[in-house]
Formats: sequence, structure tokens, C-alpha cells
Amino acid sequence: MTMDNCIFCKISQKKIPSTIVYEDEEMLAFKDINPIDKVHFLIIPREHIVNLMECNLDHQDILSKMLLLAPKLAKEFGLKGFRTMINSGKEGGQEVFHIHFHVYGGSEKLAKL
Ligand code: 5GP
Ligand code: ZN
Repeated sequence: MTMDNCIFCKISQKKIPSTIVYEDEEMLAFKDINPIDKVHFLIIPREHIVNLMECNLDHQDILSKMLLLAPKLAKEFGLKGFRTMINSGKEGGQEVFHIHFHVYGGSEKLAKL
């Protein structure tokens, strides 16, 4: 379920501090430590899933819940629009190997990682 050496599992278990903006039994959203926009948060499942390349239909419930949390929180942050980014695999720009949806926006010109 969780991985001892995973930074996002530790954030989920509150072994590492973060600014949590949403949490329930299945998922968590917290501010990115190195934001690329005025608002930038990450949505993760509590379950340790590496990335989208490891997902199958068993994950559709949690993935859709994570996706639908993005606009809910974006609206709470006052955003009128936002960008969602999911980096999958080293070649896809992924640096933390616990699946996460980036959600960011708020500036006039959207940043790209
Ligand atoms: P990736 O390139 O894997 O899609 O992005 C990982 C993201 O996690 C980066 O935007 C980075 O700033 C963020 N991040 C890495 N370590 C931590 C941490 O300890 N706390 C928080 N809040 N964000 C982190
Ligand atoms: Zn993990």
C-alpha cells in the first residue's frame, strides 16, 4: 500500500510536513514545494502507485476521483482556469515516482515544466 522510501507516501502519512489543501481516506492534495505558478498543488492517491503507465481499469475509480478534485480545488483557490499535468516515467519528466497530478494556474501566461 505504501513504500518506506517514497516521499509522497511519507507526506500522505504526515511523516514529512506539507501544506495539505484537501484530504480524505483515498487521496490527498498539497501545495508543490517549488511552485511554477501562483497556485500549484499536487493531487496524489494514498496508495503507492508509480505512474500512469502502471495503471489499469482497477485504478479508474481513484483516477477519476483525483481528476474531479482538480476543478473543485482550483475553484476554491479562485482560479478561472488551470492546467493539469501528469508526468509519467523518467522520459516523461517524472521525478517523484508516486503518481501525482499537477494542477496550476493563476498567472496570465501559463508556465510549462
Ligand atoms: P514530477 O517532475 O515528478 O512530475 O514533479 C514532482 C513535483 O514534486 C515537483 O514539482 C516538486 O517541486 C514536488 N516536490 C518534490 N518534493 C516535494 C516535497 O517534499 N514536498 C512538496 N510539497 N512537493 C515536492
Ligand atoms: Zn508512494
